[in-house]
Amino acid sequence: MLTRRELLQYLPGLPLVGSQLERDDASRARHLRPKLPDVPYRDFFKELGLRTFINAAGTYTALTGSLMREETVAAIRYAAQQYVDLDQLQDKVGERIASLLHCEAATVTAGAASAMTLGTAGILAGMDEEKVVQLPDVTGMKSEAIIQRSHDVGYTHAIRNTGVKMVYVDSRQELLDAINEKTAMMLFINFANNDAEVKDEEFVEIGKKYGIPTFNDCAADVPPVSNLWKHTDMGFDLVCFSGGKGLRGPQSAGLLLGRKDLIAAARLHAAPRGNTVGRGMKVNKEEVLGMLAALENYLVRDHEADWKQWEGQIQTIADAAARVPGVETRIFVPEIANHVPTLSITWDQENVKIEPRDARLKLQRGHPSIETKGGDDILITTWMMRPGEEFTVAEKVHSILAEAAA
Ligand SMILES: *Cc1c(COP(=O)(O)O)cnc(C)c1O
Repeated sequence: MLTRRELLQYLPGLPLVGSQLERDDASRARHLRPKLPDVPYRDFFKELGLRTFINAAGTYTALTGSLMREETVAAIRYAAQQYVDLDQLQDKVGERIASLLHCEAATVTAGAASAMTLGTAGILAGMDEEKVVQLPDVTGMKSEAIIQRSHDVGYTHAIRNTGVKMVYVDSRQELLDAINEKTAMMLFINFANNDAEVKDEEFVEIGKKYGIPTFNDCAADVPPVSNLWKHTDMGFDLVCFSGGKGLRGPQSAGLLLGRKDLIAAARLHAAPRGNTVGRGMKVNKEEVLGMLAALENYLVRDHEADWKQWEGQIQTIADAAARVPGVETRIFVPEIANHVPTLSITWDQENVKIEPRDARLKLQRGHPSIETKGGDDILITTWMMRPGEEFTVAEKVHSILAEAAA
C-alpha cells in the first residue's frame, strides 16, 4: 500500500500552497463568489416534515448514502454558478482522475451501476455510432456476459440494460466452456472474490488469454484507498466505484476507470449524446466537479487517523452496551466492501427482554433518530456518523438495553 507521502506525488493538479498560481486563483475566485451571498438558511427537511437521523448503519442508498465534505460542497456550488462545455469538462476531469489513480483513462458516471451500463455498452458498440443507437438491440454484436453465480448479488440489471444476456457459471471449467464467439465481457463483483472458484487474478488471466474484456465492480470497496488502483493495475479492463459511498462524493456520481479505448467507447453512450441507453444517466458539471473534489480530498486524507477515529467511536458504543449484564459485543472488519470497524451487539433475551428488531425500532423512533442494521443483533458502523454522535448512540443503546434488563 502506498504511503500518504507517495500518494501526494500523484496529485500534480492540486494547487501548490502559497504559490503565485494559488494567489491568482484566489483572486479569480473572489470575483466568482456567490452572487446571492445572503440567501437565508432554510431547514428544508423540517419544512417538509421529514425525519433526519444519525447514520449508524453505513452507506445505504435508501438512507441517502453519505455526507459530502465541505470541499465537495464548495465544488458543487462553484459548478452551479457558471457554464462550461460538458464534454470538455468530462475530458479534463477524466484525465485528472486517470493521473491521480494512475490508470489509462477515467470518466465520471452517475454511480457504479451507471458505470456498469456505460462500460458494457461501450464494449458492445465500440466506436460504431450506428451500434450505439441500435442498443439495447444487440443484433450483430457480441451479446453475452459471463458471471460466476455467487457474484450475482443484485446488480446485473445494470449490465442487462444494454441488451446483453447474462451467462451464469459455477466453476472454472464451466467458465472456460461458456466462452464462445458471442462472449462480449466477463463481469466480476469484487466483494464476492472469496465466494467463487475463480479469483480476481485468474479471472483477469482468462480474460486476457481469450481476448475478452473483464469488468470489476468495486462499488463499495474503499477503504482501503489502494483499491482505487489495485484492480486496474491487476489488469481488469474496466473497474467502477460508487462516488457516494466511502469516497463521500455525490450519491449520484461514480467512477469508471480503465482502458482508454473502452472509456472512449463508454462515453458515446453518456450525455450530452441523446439517443443512447445511457441518456438517463446524466451527470452534469455539479456531479463531475463534486466527484473530482471528493476523490482529491479522499486521496490526501490521513487514512490511519480516520481508522483510529472509527475504532474509538465503535469502542465507545461497545463499552456502553457491554455495561448491561447479559449483553455481548463483537467488533470485526468485513474483509472486502464496507471494510471498516463494525460492531455487532447481541444479548441473552432471558435477561434483556427485547427482540433485536424492536431495539432497533426504538433507536429509529427515538429523538434523535438513529438508523442501524442487523438481524439477530444490532449492527453499527461509525464511519458515516458526524464526530461526537457516537456518544448519543452509546447512551441510547445503553438505555434501551438497560431498560429491557430491569
Ligand atoms: C452500491 C453498489 C452498486 C451500485 O452503486 P451506485 O453507485 O449506487 O450505482 C453496485 N454494485 C455493488 C456491489 C454495490 O455495493
